[in-house]
Amino acid sequence: MRIRFLGAAQIVTGSCFVLEVGAARIMVDCGMFQGPRHIRENNYRPFLFPPQSIDYLLLTHAHIDHSGLIPKLVKQGFRGKILATPATIDLCSVMLPDSGYIQEMEVERLNRKNRRAGRPEVEPIYTAEDAKNCLQFFQPVEYEEMVGLTPQVSVRFLDAGHILGSSFLEVYVKEGEEQSKIVFSGDLGNINKPYLNDPALLSEADFLVMESTYGDRLHQENENRLDLLREIIWDTYKRGGNLIIPAFAVERTQDLIYDLNLLVMQKKFPPMKVYIDSPLAVATTEIFRRHMKIFDPETKDLIARGNDPLSMSVLEFTRTTDESVALNKILGGAIIISASGMCEAGRIKHHLKHNLWRPECTVLLVGFQAPGTKGWRLKEGAKMIRIHGEEIAVRAQIKSIEGYSAHADQKALLAWVASMRKTPRRIFLVHGETRSSAVLAELLAKEYGAQVSIPAPGEAVELTPGEVISEERVRKALAALSAKLEEALRTRPAPDRYAGILEKLNELEGLVEKMKKQAG
Ligand SMILES: [Zn+2]
Ligand SMILES: [Zn+2]
Repeated sequence: MRIRFLGAAQIVTGSCFVLEVGAARIMVDCGMFQGPRHIRENNYRPFLFPPQSIDYLLLTHAHIDHSGLIPKLVKQGFRGKILATPATIDLCSVMLPDSGYIQEMEVERLNRKNRRAGRPEVEPIYTAEDAKNCLQFFQPVEYEEMVGLTPQVSVRFLDAGHILGSSFLEVYVKEGEEQSKIVFSGDLGNINKPYLNDPALLSEADFLVMESTYGDRLHQENENRLDLLREIIWDTYKRGGNLIIPAFAVERTQDLIYDLNLLVMQKKFPPMKVYIDSPLAVATTEIFRRHMKIFDPETKDLIARGNDPLSMSVLEFTRTTDESVALNKILGGAIIISASGMCEAGRIKHHLKHNLWRPECTVLLVGFQAPGTKGWRLKEGAKMIRIHGEEIAVRAQIKSIEGYSAHADQKALLAWVASMRKTPRRIFLVHGETRSSAVLAELLAKEYGAQVSIPAPGEAVELTPGEVISEERVRKALAALSAKLEEALRTRPAPDRYAGILEKLNELEGLVEKMKKQAG
């Protein structure tokens, strides 16, 4: 059995691994590379395997850095099955076409430049239509259900607590007499997140492929997030303006709704209306509603007591462009949550244009702002922002609150490994910048004696079933035995002290036995 690391190797994005067992090829995730141009260029490279040679694609969750190249895989000939949880499939059904639409828009912009410069036109990686077409290959798998893929391989999806429907995968492989368990962590979630269960615990694994996004960092606890939010809302209300919140459509928007609902329940919410103004956010919120059965006990309890955050009375969803444009006429008393989260695209730009110049309004940033984006410039205190070719003065108050992180931090990643009954034989760290992975690797090796590696892009590793006994280990056991024997000869201990010698002798016999088997 062999594993090949095709993406998220020594970087965060582009998650993609292929497991080869006999003649079967099983791909885990098929993510898009995101970030600077030299990383994004990977999206245009041909797959290392012909897509038609892949039998199964196992998808851990819907985030684009894990799912974003599925339409390309299908467009280029993949005809196998894509297994994912029902919530992941629903999220993909809106996120992948949205990603296709973004590809088309970007290429259109690029081609306008190309035409003017007399350069040839380029094609999008895939279109919204391609993305819709790939959905027919998805097949739902429930959490904890054991699914046989081939006579040798089966898989189980467990709750990773990262986003709705997210999973880590236990892959069981039988080779001859030996059974091995390979675990792919996907992205591991943070604890105490709205809607989501804490990540399930992993009992054991022979081989573990683990994310390391926050391998070198701890999250800042933000206990008073709700108080901050309440202050900002009341302050804006008293000034008579609107509160504009740029937010990612998936998860962050629903997290905000959750917090707003808590304020409503505690009767700490002023008479304001909340508008969710992003088609993707509206569709995602619908999907959340369809999958209440996988919510965590706290959220289920809220719903049972009639306090369902997703249908609170102050909430309005704007679907059409006309409805969205109508929001521009509201001068005060509105909380408008819209995408994109970094203010670079989408309807949020219109809302900024109409509210940013008014001192009675507030813009609240709740997510990560990448350097260079409009959101980042606002956070840095820019006095003017250019929107749709127009210079807009920044007179509104600019506030920011750290959101809920979707990822486990260093402490949580270590705790997840520590909760296992025994340390995996090998751990491969992926989905992290070089420094994050290196720091985590050192800690895992030091604290749990794990054999940890950080695979290079494209690297293939042979996974040997059964325990591998090295000559070194046998020599060490032999040395320990002779030390015990010498001590016994020297000190002539009482008979019960011979137990230690017998124990070492047994260990050595066991090792030699396993070594013989290994040699075949
Ligand atoms: Zn993710
Ligand atoms: Zn990810």
